[in-house]
Amino acid sequence: MMNTPAAHAGLDQFTVQGNVLCINGIPLPQLAARIGQTPFYAIDRSVLTRRVQALRAALPKTLGLHYAMKANPMPAVVQHFASLVDGIDVASAAEMQVALDTGTPAKEISFAGPGKRNEELIQAVAAGITINCESLREITGAAHAAKSLGLKARLALRVNPDFELKSSGMKMGGGAKQFGIDVDVVPEALKLIHTCGAVFVGYHIYAGSQNLRAEALADAHTKTVALALRLCEIAREIGLSAPQVLNIGGGFGIPYFPGDTPLDLAAVGAHLSTLMPQLHAALPTTEIVIELGRYLVGESGIYVSKIVDRKVSCGQVFLVTDGGLHHHLAASGNFGQVLRKNYPVVLGNRVSADVLEKVNVVGPLCTPLDILGDKVQIPAADVGDLVCVLQSGAYGLTASPTKFLSHPAPVEVLV
Ligand SMILES: *Cc1c(COP(=O)(O)O)cnc(C)c1O
Repeated sequence: MMNTPAAHAGLDQFTVQGNVLCINGIPLPQLAARIGQTPFYAIDRSVLTRRVQALRAALPKTLGLHYAMKANPMPAVVQHFASLVDGIDVASAAEMQVALDTGTPAKEISFAGPGKRNEELIQAVAAGITINCESLREITGAAHAAKSLGLKARLALRVNPDFELKSSGMKMGGGAKQFGIDVDVVPEALKLIHTCGAVFVGYHIYAGSQNLRAEALADAHTKTVALALRLCEIAREIGLSAPQVLNIGGGFGIPYFPGDTPLDLAAVGAHLSTLMPQLHAALPTTEIVIELGRYLVGESGIYVSKIVDRKVSCGQVFLVTDGGLHHHLAASGNFGQVLRKNYPVVLGNRVSADVLEKVNVVGPLCTPLDILGDKVQIPAADVGDLVCVLQSGAYGLTASPTKFLSHPAPVEVLV
């Protein structure tokens, strides 16, 4: 009997033909030959498209969908999403340029992130995108930029929510945080926007990331909507017009590790549907949006490296590849993991075998942290075989220390 290595999260996004992993129909060895080098990241555009379709089907019809491009800022990926989603959220002026290059209208681009430099504020105002202000200084900085440019700044407030998104991979709201403006400072921030004559775009409330629990997300959505309605009332009292956009965050997670169950998207969508009538009644002219990064792109991508050596140490097999943590820090377990767990690993050119071998897949770096797979079960593999790390479409290359040890950079392709 053929054994496929465990039930790997993400493997069902792709087809396996003749025991070879295919990326958007192209057998991996052929794709590797086309690219002409390893390591590489390959993103399957059909997976991206299907994911947007699944979200559209599950979420309320009137809820806008934004791509948070820091999850994967590869220009071709951002371009692909530009025609599928309702807006792009950027986290730097350089990301803004990539988003603008796609032809996305400026008013559908918003810029979040603490510590925006004055130069970035000038760029953002000149571009006409929305700035999600994370401090009073950003408001005055943007107003100053607008004055010198003879333009109006489009300003939203990123609010540090006064609650937490429970069981999140990363909490990004609730309590003391570098993100957003505390709820009790919002009135002062609104007055500043009002007096400087900027366009008040609305609110951005983001509570956390990588959440697999529908109930936790639903709870956060309920609290976010209550907070937003309260804050909109305050804005109205100050004399600001109704918000154009209300961004209620995201944080939808994807499964990585054995035991992770995929997010119940239908449940999240059903709960959001119960909140929409209340929002539309109170804010009839306001566009309600969510912003997703990882959930949109994470499952579409694989990281492929080639085995350059096979060694045995103290009875354990080590497959040494030409890729490692310098390209994929997250898979090595050093990007936000507390206890290291393996990302799903498959042998791309021989997915299944009668007998599997327990191996350590490591990179070429001079550090014991450079692990892509710790005691993973894959078909017996040797020099030249292609090791694939699944679930690698988000926070892969972009979140990795590529300069460390000065090995060659990987290639990224959208297939
Ligand atoms: C990082 C980030 C996102 C995207 O988070 P994912 O977990 O990738 O969906 C969305 N919004 C803000 C403000 C972020 O900082």
